Amino acid sequence: MTRISFNELNLIEPILTSLKAAKYSTPTPIQAEAIPHLLGGGDLLGCAQTGTGKTAAFALPILQRLHLSKTRAKKHGTRALVLTPTRELAVQIHENFKAYGSQLKLRYSVIYGGVSQVPQVKKLSGGVDVIIATPGRLLDLMQQKKVVLDDVEIMVMDEADRMLDMGFIRDVKKIVAKIPADRQTLLFSATMPTEVASLADSLLKNPKKIHVNPVASTADLIDDHVLFVDRDQKRALLVEIFREHQVTSAIVFTRTKHRANRLAKELSEKKIPAVAIHGNKSQNARQKALNDFSAGEVKVLVATDIVSRGIDVDGISHVINFELPNEPESYVHRIGRTARAGTAGVAISFCDQEEIEQLADIEKFIKRKIEVLETHSHHNPKIAERFASQIERKGSAPRRKQPQRRGGNSRRRPSSSRGRSSAGRGNYSGRRSANA
Ligand code: AMP
Repeated sequence: MTRISFNELNLIEPILTSLKAAKYSTPTPIQAEAIPHLLGGGDLLGCAQTGTGKTAAFALPILQRLHLSKTRAKKHGTRALVLTPTRELAVQIHENFKAYGSQLKLRYSVIYGGVSQVPQVKKLSGGVDVIIATPGRLLDLMQQKKVVLDDVEIMVMDEADRMLDMGFIRDVKKIVAKIPADRQTLLFSATMPTEVASLADSLLKNPKKIHVNPVASTADLIDDHVLFVDRDQKRALLVEIFREHQVTSAIVFTRTKHRANRLAKELSEKKIPAVAIHGNKSQNARQKALNDFSAGEVKVLVATDIVSRGIDVDGISHVINFELPNEPESYVHRIGRTARAGTAGVAISFCDQEEIEQLADIEKFIKRKIEVLETHSHHNPKIAERFASQIERKGSAPRRKQPQRRGGNSRRRPSSSRGRSSAGRGNYSGRRSANA
């Protein structure tokens, strides 16, 4: 199949120049489909997540429309608003707008909580062209009249499913109520549960629907393995993996903040520079950790699931699941941190005797077996056997490479059943935010 080029998408020269600078040669599928439609002013419902190139899919047409329309936002106003659930994503999207729009005279502003509002308010006072915001702080600034949304021409709701999982729905509705109805609206979501579908119904007018399956496509580039190992051997195994493998930069996932802190400390003591990143760290600490990691100053990020979707750093060679996630979907998000933008990556999961249920749920969810590193010196065949008999009891996962996405009418199971059944899906924010 021949892929089209950015030149064929009716993008203006200054934007094409910045894409060249970013070394993007061809549009990703979502970009090829979304950009022409969005340049025409239509609404969009995108079933896609990070890793697909969705940020450029919405940012490029927004930049072009704002550049060509030449209206100006009034004081404290903005012409485009991007709502996104986490600070990390907000910062990343802001960086993308700055890069893609580097040749344009537009102003971009990022708003999120956990830091002083003063610089954010200062930047907004003269009006900007694009605000990228998390809902809580935006609403706060709106209530203080530091932000006015009367001039918004384009609104993007990013990661809508996660926004709802994180309990932002009321804030989002209050924000949307202040935006003119006569606007272009885009909604992106990795999954499409009924709550998101009905939100999309209420926000979008005759939207174009685009569905891309990044998880499936990136999974093809990720070499993922599992090691059955005794819990008390996991630390030694981790250090050994760093010594055995060509680990240039890695994310190690734990289930709790406490363990992330401890592990980062222990790795650093073993001369493997590591830093922990999780929901308890201040925004500045989180950003610094990410910056140091991107710059290669620390080799390892020890993270909890709260950041598994937000981290977009190129060249992560390894993802290590020191502990398996309780929610199978998190596995896919975690391993998706490697093999970004078409490069290959390795994921290794440590499974101890207490985690065989989680592993069974993961394999069921991704609809394939994860290769077992049976020859490794830390491999414990007893745990492998226990896992095999568990699978036999429950019925094995089919061998297919494509994970299935959640359908349009899927329902969340009550939290009491989360992570137990082999169908194991559902609202994973509750448990995750409790300890991430
Ligand atoms: P996103 O899904 O927007 O988070 O993008 C995932 C990664 O792909 C980011 O690192 C982008 O910089 C990169 N990317 C986006 N579009 C392209 C493209 N057309 N060619 C190469 N890399 C891209």
